[in-house]
Amino acid sequence: MLEDKNRPFTKVSELGEFGLIDHLTKGIKLTQKSTVKGIGDDAAVISTTGNFQKVVTTDMLVEGVHFDLGYMPLKHLGYKAVIVNLSDIYAMNANPKQITVSMAISNRFPVEALEELYEGIKTACKLYQVDLVGGDTTSSTSGLIISITAIGEVEENQVAFRSGAKENDLLVLTGDIGAAYLGLQVLEREKQVFKANPNSQPDLEPYTYLVERQLKPEARKDIITLLKDLDVLPTSMIDVSDGLSSEILHICKASGVGCNVYEDKIPLDPQVISTCEEFNIDSTTIALSGGEDYELLFTITMEDFPKIKANPNFTIIGHITAEKEGVHLISRANTKIPVVARGWNPLKEE
Ligand code: ADP
Ligand code: MG
Repeated sequence: MLEDKNRPFTKVSELGEFGLIDHLTKGIKLTQKSTVKGIGDDAAVISTTGNFQKVVTTDMLVEGVHFDLGYMPLKHLGYKAVIVNLSDIYAMNANPKQITVSMAISNRFPVEALEELYEGIKTACKLYQVDLVGGDTTSSTSGLIISITAIGEVEENQVAFRSGAKENDLLVLTGDIGAAYLGLQVLEREKQVFKANPNSQPDLEPYTYLVERQLKPEARKDIITLLKDLDVLPTSMIDVSDGLSSEILHICKASGVGCNVYEDKIPLDPQVISTCEEFNIDSTTIALSGGEDYELLFTITMEDFPKIKANPNFTIIGHITAEKEGVHLISRANTKIPVVARGWNPLKEE
């Protein structure tokens, strides 16, 4: 963000903490029935109705660790910070209703920068129909830290834990994976090129999908609605934030089961395939260890198979086995490779 001579930046100290909170949160409207009291008191008030249960999750993003403002616009950061939390709520088969936003800011950030951050946050709230009901604002000596808490609702008996997968269940993945990680690689590469030659113009045209998946991810709200419409209750579910292999292992460990995943079934976008070829990296490695896809990975009983069979949102990538069978990738060459949490190594195939 560049300072405009005609419109100089406003220091946060000019507004003060309370002034800043008022400024950033003014005009926020409450839309959810369960929001009784939002911003402006010591705590927000949220009601529970009927047989709904509450679901709560928190995620913290630290500058230099989780994001780089060198290529991540603040508006996108705000949006993404909300999305990663909503994704965790959907992964419980629940619907998010409220969020709180806490941030630590250094004096490097003028009010205008925080306005952009909040623009992204508010856009996500509007799109996903959640109320921003509170937060905390404090100072930081170095970078920006943003922590968001999301609160959701799920009908009793509809909640999907990681622990419910049973032998013979099918393992299902939404969308496609690997793109967000590759998007980051592309942005990193452009950053290095730009450092070496500040006059260079990045050509991101062949990587639009990858960059979008990295900078503006979406959470699969649509899938929760779809599963309900199809009358499918996943026996277990998790969102793909750390990479497919890690999520598969979480489900298997929590459920006390094993799993076979088929390499040739893993859904990849054509841009993922072409970029992996260009970078000379194995696309399966990227799909398994990449992360930040925010797709949903879940298991269903065999009886539910006909309900999701022809749906383009879903790919059956494997099935659940007994725990003693272990967790394996069945490669295209039909060899069994143990799935490990990170850095699945294609060289092990030999
Ligand atoms: P307290 O001192 O009681 O913790 P604060 O002055 O920190 O209250 O906050 C006042 C109100 O503004 C509260 O409703 C709080 O949830 C909200 N709030 C504080 N910081 C933020 C923020 N960054 N975004 C949204 N709401 C905030
Ligand atoms: Mg406070």
